Amino acid sequence: MEKIIDIQHLSKSFGAHEVLKDIDFSVNKGEVVCIIGSSGSGKSTLLRCVNLLEKPSGGQIIYRGENILDDKHDIPTYRQKLGMVFQQFNLFNNHNVLSNCVVGQVKVLGRSKEEAEKIAMKYLKVVGMDKYVNAKPKQLSGGQKQRVAIARALSMEPDVILFDEPTSALDPEMVGEVLKIMKELAELGLTMLIVTHEMEFAREVSDRVVFMDKGVIAEEGHPEQIFNNPKHERTKEFLKRTL
Ligand code: ADP
Ligand code: MG
Repeated sequence: MEKIIDIQHLSKSFGAHEVLKDIDFSVNKGEVVCIIGSSGSGKSTLLRCVNLLEKPSGGQIIYRGENILDDKHDIPTYRQKLGMVFQQFNLFNNHNVLSNCVVGQVKVLGRSKEEAEKIAMKYLKVVGMDKYVNAKPKQLSGGQKQRVAIARALSMEPDVILFDEPTSALDPEMVGEVLKIMKELAELGLTMLIVTHEMEFAREVSDRVVFMDKGVIAEEGHPEQIFNNPKHERTKEFLKRTL
């Protein structure tokens, strides 16, 4: 299997607080990996280190065979290979739906406006938001906003998409529409790294589940193993609380 991202001995501290400790894990091409764990266990910090929104304190991030933490490596080039979908959508509120999916392509990838719009339309169709191209974010429901945010990430045609609790800010009735789209993307073979509290989704969609506890990966494995036969005491406790 082709490793896209391979993390070795990653650590991150904020002052004296060591939030990530000696994290090793990798994401293979076409794989869907879900990260679960209690609030404060370091899941968001891990995603933010992977896309270098936070600078790791130690360790290596190997992207397609190269350590991107080497000084010689071009960070903007690496980051444009990663898509990110946030809990709070982070749409540009003064841009309409189409423009939200176009600006990054033009500014970062240097695509022409025409080409970028064509690509944006393709992905807005995938998420079922192509009828809303002229709407501004404030006119949309939370579920619709998140679907636009997903189309925006897809429009950059990244190697991997990172999702940080994409349904946690949504009203319960809108969670399903977003999970459905994510499931479809998984079936299309996209490589996805997803922090989620949606255990049913993690169980059904992921190839691998990573359980984080207090800054370490306590356990990882196939979803059936993690959910039916967790080995670690802390995994058992966590699942008992959440399922
Ligand atoms: P999770 O996403 O699993 O809830 P986080 O990665 O957000 O956990 O946080 C892990 C720990 O790191 C928490 O104790 C949090 O307070 C701390 N932390 C996260 N970001 C920062 C920051 N920018 N400065 C200081 N502490 C932080
Ligand atoms: Mg978090």
